[in-house]
Amino acid sequence: MSESPALQALQALKVVDAFDLDDELRSILRPGEMIRDAHGRRHRLPRYFYEIPSHEAAMATKLAPNFGMNEFVLVDLKEAPRLQLYPRYVPCAVRVLVFYLQQFRAVVGSSLHIVVNGGYRSPAHRLSTEATPHMWGTAADVYRIGSNILKTQELIEKYNEIALDLSEDVSVHPYGHVTGKNSDDHVHLDLGYITLIPREISEDRMEQPQESRPRFAFEDRRGRERRNLPEASDKPF
Ligand SMILES: [Zn+2]
Repeated sequence: MSESPALQALQALKVVDAFDLDDELRSILRPGEMIRDAHGRRHRLPRYFYEIPSHEAAMATKLAPNFGMNEFVLVDLKEAPRLQLYPRYVPCAVRVLVFYLQQFRAVVGSSLHIVVNGGYRSPAHRLSTEATPHMWGTAADVYRIGSNILKTQELIEKYNEIALDLSEDVSVHPYGHVTGKNSDDHVHLDLGYITLIPREISEDRMEQPQESRPRFAFEDRRGRERRNLPEASDKPF
């Protein structure tokens, strides 16, 4: 019995090694390259990405009870044209970000709305002049919480405090008007430069394209969704 792409997306996410993608995608995603942040510190860009085949799959893929993949791949014309098409690519560390966002949502008790371009931004994005955790999939820009639009110093500082109280892993931008350092119309929450390597992918040391034998894996769904799936593989090794 064949399954619809959307149902497959509910069961497994495809993980790709960006070194094996075509030339254009490699030049946009720049896997493994070093890039400087605003302080001149260098960070290595992520290499393993979720590949999302379609808008329907992005909509159907839940990363946590209240967050779908779709919220992290919404981009506008500032993103590289290729990344405005499907398949879309998101660093695998987005999963960790979503865990924290789900905790944040539980504390505030209402929905978090992420800005277009407020999830993953590639190094080719026009706002990506220096390294920011957005390029690692570990930052989110939230412009509305429940019915509160985050445009005042009072609201941004209130929610920044709540975000910081979640964990010492969380960082925010203080209220202010300098783009990239401050924020005056959203809460920027990030976890720093985390890269995640799903257990299903084999880490090959070779950083050469393997187009004849591309490396990818399908990640089993985690947690409750995985346990509830009758066909979820749980092979002993
Ligand atoms: Zn941000």
